[in-house]
Amino acid sequence: MIEKVLIANRGEIALRIQRACRELGIKTVAVHSDADRDLKHVLLADESVCIGPAPSRDSYLHIPSIISAAEVTDTVAIHPGYGFLSENADFAERVERSGFVFIGPKPETIRLMGDKVSAIKAMQAAGVPCVPGSDGPLGDDPNRLLELAHNIGYPVIIKAAGGGGGRGMRVVHSDAALLNAVSLTKAEAGAAFGNDVVYMEKYLENPRHVEFQMLADNHGHAVHLGERDCSMQRRHQKVVEEAPAPGITAEQRQRIGDRCAEACVRIGYRGLGTFEFLYQDGEFYFIEMNTRVQVEHPVTEMVTGIDIVKAQILVASGEPLQFKQDDIELRGHAIECRINAEHPETFMPSPGRIEDFHAPGGPGIRMDTHIYSGYVVPPYYDSMIGKLIAHGENRDCAIARMNNALRETVIEGIQTNIPLHRQIMKDAAFQAGGANIHYLEKKLGL
Ligand code: ADP
Repeated sequence: MIEKVLIANRGEIALRIQRACRELGIKTVAVHSDADRDLKHVLLADESVCIGPAPSRDSYLHIPSIISAAEVTDTVAIHPGYGFLSENADFAERVERSGFVFIGPKPETIRLMGDKVSAIKAMQAAGVPCVPGSDGPLGDDPNRLLELAHNIGYPVIIKAAGGGGGRGMRVVHSDAALLNAVSLTKAEAGAAFGNDVVYMEKYLENPRHVEFQMLADNHGHAVHLGERDCSMQRRHQKVVEEAPAPGITAEQRQRIGDRCAEACVRIGYRGLGTFEFLYQDGEFYFIEMNTRVQVEHPVTEMVTGIDIVKAQILVASGEPLQFKQDDIELRGHAIECRINAEHPETFMPSPGRIEDFHAPGGPGIRMDTHIYSGYVVPPYYDSMIGKLIAHGENRDCAIARMNNALRETVIEGIQTNIPLHRQIMKDAAFQAGGANIHYLEKKLGL
């Protein structure tokens, strides 16, 4: 068993990981930047180490400082959380080479899935449905490119193999724009990701974002924990997530979930992972895999009753999965609102001191947050300051509970997007369920 975990992250996810460790009797080491001395999990940690100045590249992204902190504290395992170094295969390799357990997949798996072209190839081989496309990198031959686009059918999307965060993509509607779009995307990808490989896919015009939560151990077992709908997005950033996805049948869940589990076994996957799909006209199309815990994992925890972070730590320590696919049952419906320190209409970040904070409560309400009255939100990092989750026996009940909870939450001193969430919960199309990924931006007039 792992006796001590270093948490290589900050904010709500660092606190979430710390809570899971505590329940398992594991000691925690918090690492933090100069700007983060007052983070809740730092104050609660068994040990804490300052790893550098405020900018992430000098602290949370600075691999040698994190490894040194692990060495001086006799850490056994390192949990990367999400963002920062969580999907950096070089970091995972350094962690393992330094003699620590990396709480995540093997470095080679992170590398395989981090390159979208190789990820798609691996998924096709495993029978996971993918978006019709070039099935590999694009070359330079203009005739070949035009023929490919014709075969796929316009509109198409040119995507960078090494892209991420919604960057490195370009939609093309006609022959006239194709060649230029390919060379521009190639040049941008080379500059932004150090990898100028691009590929082509059919551009789906009105998809939903539906993703499957997977969990695999080191003994050849993998299960799926159902799906989430994350279609409420702004600039490719998720704003509201829910589980299960409205309208997805038990048959679809089982068919796609089983395919994903088989794919995990086939590629020797270990730990938590998410298969992201676009879902349109009743069909699923794989777009990418995330090889880490997700921001939206709590909605899955609420409907399955499984503590995903604890399960992740247990499989990283070598334990076999504690349950089989048939043991997993979905109960009710859960919704998560991401609470950001930002202006609700302009979306400008709003860091500063939280003068007053009242957490919501009541049946089915969970708030994962590191904020407290007097806490100062620093300007250096992501603006998300917490997640409000509502669970109920059905979707209407979850929405009603979320409405109450949003009303009860008081965060004073900074601006938050709570008014936006209240608007979304009252929106007729959201209430009906199944809106596509463009809906929120259209509603907001963006
Ligand atoms: P990233 O790693 O940058 O998040 P993804 O491959 O996950 O890139 O795509 C991000 C978003 O871009 C998707 O959620 C979707 O909104 C849009 N997108 C990507 N591929 C397609 C496609 N083939 N058709 C339509 N939209 C797409």
